[in-house]
Amino acid sequence: MKRTTYFAAACALLFLCVFSSGCTPMRSAARTDLLLGTIIDITIYGRTSQETLDAAADAAMARAKELEQIFSATLEDSELSYVNQNAANAPVTVSRDMYTVLERSLYFAHLSDGAFDPTLGRLIKLWGIGTKNAAVPSEDEIQPLIGQKNYEHVVLNETAQTVSFTTDNFELDLGAIAKGYAADEMKKLLTDDYNITCGLLNLGGNVITIGERYDGGPWSIGIADLQAPQDTANPALILEITDETIVTSGNYQRCFTAPDGTLYHHILDGNTGFPADTGLASVSILTDCSMDADALSTAAFVLGEQKARALLSRLDGIDAVFIDTQGQITTTAGIDGR
Ligand code: AMP
Ligand code: MG
Repeated sequence: MKRTTYFAAACALLFLCVFSSGCTPMRSAARTDLLLGTIIDITIYGRTSQETLDAAADAAMARAKELEQIFSATLEDSELSYVNQNAANAPVTVSRDMYTVLERSLYFAHLSDGAFDPTLGRLIKLWGIGTKNAAVPSEDEIQPLIGQKNYEHVVLNETAQTVSFTTDNFELDLGAIAKGYAADEMKKLLTDDYNITCGLLNLGGNVITIGERYDGGPWSIGIADLQAPQDTANPALILEITDETIVTSGNYQRCFTAPDGTLYHHILDGNTGFPADTGLASVSILTDCSMDADALSTAAFVLGEQKARALLSRLDGIDAVFIDTQGQITTTAGIDGR
């Protein structure tokens, strides 16, 4: 064999080995569905059979559906609805998923002094933001529902795995944390049960990554530009992450504009009863637990940048990107260089 021919053959072999290691090609499976009140989009990759990838992707989506049946505030037969209807009368035995999320919710409610408040169910239903009945409520309707800190009236019993309410004037809404928990659980199922080491799961603004990207680098995740939030090709900022999660709470995600032009969005301040108005358009939290990131992004949005920075500085391994209503972007120190 001539030297140049030999060299070309060696290069071709190297190319094949790098891109199809062990001669098993990189395959992928993608799924999209409307679950947990949002569009869930997942893509997983692996040098395994297509059947394995398809089974893994289907199992992850089935897990999301199972969690929707637990945490939905709108499905009348969800576990959450059952808890809301019964926990003020007697302790209700709940699933492990519900118990885990309630426990973490109470932790973040206390930590944020009620900025994240899982007991705003009635206020959230009153506004109806994200539904066709969205409307600005009257002061008389809002007044009885504000300044309550009802999370102090949620009692958990770990041994019995029960929840009870010590008053009957509130309902739980876990919309600010359940998607994060679902992202963690879907990732756990994919990695533990199906050995998936590469993937990207997007639960309507809750992004979680599994390992490195299929070509070995970090994943590039865009944070929406508030001027054009749907324009995913032109984000305000791109962060590079590996095996981490980015969760964004933003005033453009679910909102309506009143006839006078005022924008009313879905993240409510339990003290005022109105959409939080701290000059922020979005807060993104970067860390490795999506449930924590979800609760913290909501809390940070309600607190505003200054108080949110003070809260986040007390926690380890959490970074944040703040975008104000003028489009100004600021970040915590750990974001620099990403
Ligand atoms: P997120 O997009 O994670 O910030 O969550 C917003 C969703 O959580 C809303 O659609 C409501 O269902 C619920 N929610 C609104 N305001 C709050 C709040 N201050 N604390 C906890 N949950 C909230
Ligand atoms: Mg949240």
